[in-house]
Amino acid sequence: MPTALSDKRQAIVDAALALDRSKLNRGTTGNLSLRDGDHMLITPSAVPSDALAADMVARMPLAGNGPWEGPRKPSSEWRFHRDILRARPDIDAVVHTHAPFCTVLSIARRPIPAIHYMIAAFGGPDIRVADYATFGTAALSDHVLRAMEGRMGCLMANHGMVVGGPNLPRALWLAHELEALAHQHYHAQLLGGAHVLTDAEVAETAAVFAGYGVQGDPNTA
Ligand code: 13P
Ligand code: ZN
Repeated sequence: MPTALSDKRQAIVDAALALDRSKLNRGTTGNLSLRDGDHMLITPSAVPSDALAADMVARMPLAGNGPWEGPRKPSSEWRFHRDILRARPDIDAVVHTHAPFCTVLSIARRPIPAIHYMIAAFGGPDIRVADYATFGTAALSDHVLRAMEGRMGCLMANHGMVVGGPNLPRALWLAHELEALAHQHYHAQLLGGAHVLTDAEVAETAAVFAGYGVQGDPNTA
């Protein structure tokens, strides 16, 4: 008989496989977490998605620095997953990927301006680039938290991207939307530059979104 906890673990595995299938991730890159009361469930470190099983998903308290439970150690990025879930009651699921166009922009350290109205789904008129720090460090977590202030996602310098959502389907949807924005921005730059929407235009879109069921998202925020 599946429990809520085993359902959540399986949802994390399914999400990791979906990210691989859609080429947002590959191999052992990227990681996912999901709030579970005062704990988080998080993918194990260094396991490729196609080798993941639900019982490998680690569990950690949100308070303190552990201890973690599970047959394998949690993702090396447990700090920013924990710190986002701690600091952001509006976020219950965190997705980190090395999605191709997000990563290209992160290497060039180019924030994404309001080049498409879908940016309003991220809570404001831009996507910032978190400063660089070695993967897995508390410094990287600090940079990510700062870059995500008032936003549901950011790029991570010379690394990739991270998004948060009120649930896993929404976080996955935002991961795809962020990669789409990065893809659009990259190509608009190749054409010579983008026409950027005003803050008022983005705010107007956010107001329309509030009464709109975004396609593919059963839980529009
Ligand atoms: P983990 O395998 O430890 O989750 O690390 C992958 C990654 O993307 C580090 O930033
Ligand atoms: Zn990474």
